[in-house]
Amino acid sequence: LIQLAIPLNFIGFVYREIRQGLTDIEHMFDLLDVRAEVVDRPNAKELKIERGAIAFKNVQFAYDPARPILKGISFEVPAGKTVAVVGPSGAGKSTLSRLLYRFYDVQEGSITIDGQDVRDVTQKSLRSVIGMVPQDTVLFNDTIAYNIRYGRVTASDAEVEAAAEAAQIADFIRDLPEGFRAMVGERGLKLSGGEKQRVAIARTILKAPPILILDEATSALDTKTEQEIQAALDIVSRNRTTLVIAHRLSTVINADEIIVLKDGVIAERGTHGELIDRGGLYASMWSRQREATQAEEQLKRVRESD
Ligand code: ATP
Repeated sequence: LIQLAIPLNFIGFVYREIRQGLTDIEHMFDLLDVRAEVVDRPNAKELKIERGAIAFKNVQFAYDPARPILKGISFEVPAGKTVAVVGPSGAGKSTLSRLLYRFYDVQEGSITIDGQDVRDVTQKSLRSVIGMVPQDTVLFNDTIAYNIRYGRVTASDAEVEAAAEAAQIADFIRDLPEGFRAMVGERGLKLSGGEKQRVAIARTILKAPPILILDEATSALDTKTEQEIQAALDIVSRNRTTLVIAHRLSTVINADEIIVLKDGVIAERGTHGELIDRGGLYASMWSRQREATQAEEQLKRVRESD
């Protein structure tokens, strides 16, 4: 019996690994809508994380050679700090996060983590240290608990609940008739963009990666949701090296550095205060967004008083 049990166990293990692998790959490609373009080098090593410092050095990249997207981008995200990238739509902000996650390889320059070029390490080890909160989280057709536990499959129920708490989604879940056992996804309960993002944050809290990429949704959120998400993000990014692809200015105000990307180059960089004082592109983006938020809130007040 023992002899038979081992191979069966082994087959079960292989099956689960394959299934998990396929789910991961499908999941990632769904999230980012990209194809597999890169493979590990034959002598690829495991990435060794010391402090989790990221450096982009003279990074150049184009999806189509005729249309360069990044034309020599250099910046660092020091260990434990938060750098936010802002800029007009199509400027290449999300492209930076895809290059860090190595969905594509840079064409010139390099991206390193603790001095190791991301092209020299295994993709598995690279991705295991990066937590990605994408623009639009794909949910599995399973329970909400399963969807959160995906961040670390060995997490206990109590840990799943604590992560939901920190991600500011626990109250919402407890109000569901089936609570954490509620089915979500295409064939279950449809969650809003803000709710899905908080599920992604809860997953990331469980994964507890040293490096975090937050790719914010472009869609507008109401002020309360935005504040809840901000509170969740503050918890998850504390003491983690964080790259934020920012669309909402509430996320960038406290960043250690803001990079303003435009036409493939860094047009401005500095803290929120420095960039406002400078009165350039960032300052005008900021006043435009503030006006838009104020107008929206005024409209809401008028509607509410009707
Ligand atoms: P947004 O603020 O609208 O999200 P972004 O600054 O994040 O924009 P990216 O998603 O990085 O912009 O895209 C940069 C440019 O590259 C865009 O013009 C986009 O059309 C193009 N692009 C993005 N992905 C691909 C792809 N897979 N193949 C070809 N071109 C792409």
